[in-house]
Amino acid sequence: MERRKTRQISVGNEHTGIVRIGGDAEVSVQTMTSGYTYEIDACVAEINRMAAAGAHIVRVAVPKRVDTEALPEILSQTKIPIVADVHFHYQRALEAVEAGIHKIRLNPGNIDDRDQVNRVIDACAERDIPIRVGVNEGSIIERKDKQLRMEELGKFFADHHQGHLMALMITKLEEYLEIFEDRNFHNVCLSAKSMDARLAIATYREISTRFDYPLHLGVTHAGPRETGAIRSVVALGALLAEGIGDTLRISYASDPVFEVEDGLEMLWSLGLRERKGAELIACPTCGRIQVDLFSLVQAVRQKLSDEIEVPMKVAVMGCVVNGPGEAEGADIAVFAGDRRGIIYVQGARIANVPEDEILDRLLLECRTFQEQVRAGTAKLGDKRVDIVPPDPIGEIGSGIEKIAQGHVEQISIGES
Ligand code: SF4
Repeated sequence: MERRKTRQISVGNEHTGIVRIGGDAEVSVQTMTSGYTYEIDACVAEINRMAAAGAHIVRVAVPKRVDTEALPEILSQTKIPIVADVHFHYQRALEAVEAGIHKIRLNPGNIDDRDQVNRVIDACAERDIPIRVGVNEGSIIERKDKQLRMEELGKFFADHHQGHLMALMITKLEEYLEIFEDRNFHNVCLSAKSMDARLAIATYREISTRFDYPLHLGVTHAGPRETGAIRSVVALGALLAEGIGDTLRISYASDPVFEVEDGLEMLWSLGLRERKGAELIACPTCGRIQVDLFSLVQAVRQKLSDEIEVPMKVAVMGCVVNGPGEAEGADIAVFAGDRRGIIYVQGARIANVPEDEILDRLLLECRTFQEQVRAGTAKLGDKRVDIVPPDPIGEIGSGIEKIAQGHVEQISIGES
């Protein structure tokens, strides 16, 4: 996938490691703490939990002086680049810079006085700290002096269902960028978040053609994970698939760790980052199911995420009728049936165990396989389950009878 060419910015230092955004850097995943920054212990614990989940950058809100006062301690106790999220009070940005923050997020529209914005820009320039210049659909305010430009753009985007809003967001971004460029400050990335997936896609597409700064993608106020995930993945996935976007935050009204997990999964699915940990394939179940597959899948998912770091493919399938086909390419697979599970490791049938032993046995095989891969005695994706169609329709139907008897000869094993 060809990525849009942009400038590159760097976030972090020797203590945290440096995350590059834009240029030839991999797309990074960000999230934001949900607690109060001034509650140092809780804030540090939350940041460390996010880092353990795989976040590359974490943002914290600093609405009060007490929040920026907490930053030095927080920065010393964490090892991930941290962004200070500043609204309204330019002093918070200056204090955060003084505390050693790695990046500032600023919406210049929230700061009345241009001199105040300039002071923040100068402080960041002095310390080589990047700034995200962000507009949010919800925070833009129409102003008379920009009316003409907006009307021009509004006509340009007239075909879009929210062309007016899109014009407003781009106008604002242009206006804000002028402030930074007037001071010859280019250490920025841009965001223009909307809560409407279609608007987000159209706006970021447009921005990507107008500016060469790296883009921070996001759908703002996307809601709880159940619906927010779809809204975010639709918008961000579409953009990323077009090569647009250099860092992202998925935002949920939920535990921020889910934001990290889903952001990473999106990048892995698009091949934009090398997968860390196991890839889980699971069937949706159907009338052929004879085990509690949903509970098993959830338990396997949790354990894999806790224990497996090697990017092996693990399949949990409900039966041997369609399971082998859908699990093709899996390193480890279990095919369930009649309250039992038949476990395969790279094509070799290893065990046939009762339902209550499937989880433990499957994990044992995953751990063993992980050790073999690390030791170089096994290779990921080396062998696969090869399928000879089981139980042709019309002969014995679903194959359940055979599974019940422990016969699974229908599945033959071969090397890829
Ligand atoms: S693998 Fe078997 S149980 Fe699962 S959906 Fe496919 S046919 Fe149904």
